[in-house]
Amino acid sequence: MNGDFRASFVREPQSLRHHPALVLNADYRPLSYYPLSLWPWQEAIKAAWLDRVQIVAEYDTCVRSPSTSIRIPSVVVLRDYVKPQKRVAFTRFNLFLRDEFACQYCGSKGELTFDHVIPRSRGGVTSWDNVVAACATCNLRKGSRSLRKAGMSLRRTPCQPGAEELKNQGRKFPPNHLHETWLDFLYWDAELQA
Ligand SMILES: [Zn+2]
Repeated sequence: MNGDFRASFVREPQSLRHHPALVLNADYRPLSYYPLSLWPWQEAIKAAWLDRVQIVAEYDTCVRSPSTSIRIPSVVVLRDYVKPQKRVAFTRFNLFLRDEFACQYCGSKGELTFDHVIPRSRGGVTSWDNVVAACATCNLRKGSRSLRKAGMSLRRTPCQPGAEELKNQGRKFPPNHLHETWLDFLYWDAELQA
């Protein structure tokens, strides 16, 4: 697995290293798969205290205050359903995710860049259907030629992904660490390494 390039997009904040809570929407599906929707434990406890979430599963670990002791939540579900966004932002991350972090010419999964299918010098625009993830080698090989001139072909015709489609793409990239209590609420296309 070549996770280094991908990891540069999704940094794991320090606060999520210890006992993060998986956050589910009111329909018991994660708010997002990639990055996986997680909260620091302090936030999860606060939200439970404010009755914004229901605790579904817990860690064995407790936190204590002078007056009380509470087990750290490992899975929480939002009381109010959050409507998923319909439109997908045209960002570097989303474009790479659409293309599964793979070069759309050769399929390699190392460090990636962008390629304009119709070169900019020939009027190609920067849009979902004209930009694809490409490795440096293919990008260089194609240069500012058309696909036909370069004798190259795309693995898939690029187009704007739907929000649900992109969310599902995220299932292909499970994080390295998955707590056992999360597994009941997640399903991954990639093989689980539990
Ligand atoms: Zn390539």
